[in-house]
Amino acid sequence: MNLILFGPPGVGKGTQGERIATDKGMAHLAMGDLLRAAVRDKTDAGIKAKGFMDAGKLVPDMVVVAMIEEKIVADAEDGFLLDGFPRNVTQAEALAVMLKKHDLKIDRTIFMDAPEENLINRLCGRLICRACGFGFHRQYSPPLKSGLCDRCDGELYQREDDREDVIANRLQVYREQTAPLLNYYQHQEGFFKLDAGGEMDAVYAALQKLV
Ligand code: AMP
Repeated sequence: MNLILFGPPGVGKGTQGERIATDKGMAHLAMGDLLRAAVRDKTDAGIKAKGFMDAGKLVPDMVVVAMIEEKIVADAEDGFLLDGFPRNVTQAEALAVMLKKHDLKIDRTIFMDAPEENLINRLCGRLICRACGFGFHRQYSPPLKSGLCDRCDGELYQREDDREDVIANRLQVYREQTAPLLNYYQHQEGFFKLDAGGEMDAVYAALQKLV
């Protein structure tokens, strides 16, 4: 099965996507994670992407489309979950062409949404393990030992773009560029809306039903 999860930053695409992908044995292709790895490794794509990411803007389409195509092709056999791609209509069109070229299709496109207040709270309090990437939240799911990951004892950090000023930019970019995807996908077969404003396990149960 191949899935797309889309929605605003902080809605839980990463957390819920990782969980469902693990349960179903699909590859979790998170565009933001791929870009952060490219920045860390100082690849050509990473060098191009860094300034955009730090400012909360979208990385140019050509860069992300090339990166995701490589991953989709590599992971097509067991199915994949796209998280954070596409993020605008140009990317959605490029994805459609790419899928056709590789004789693949998307089975479900799930739009996750939550009130903006929840998104800002979730993003501001988010902590991530530098070693294993696992996510915590200062208030809603704090680590057992302050500053350290429960799973691997790695150091927890706050993402540069989870600062309040950058969050405002990311939400603005979402409204202007990503929200129009709703029009693009909502009449296509396999489209569902998921209310992701509730508690994590309840949202997951609803997601499982859709998948
Ligand atoms: P995320 O981890 O999904 O919140 O993404 C972090 C940042 O990576 C975004 O704010 C963008 O700068 C960049 N990014 C992620 N996905 C895309 C995409 N599909 N197109 C362009 N930029 C992206």
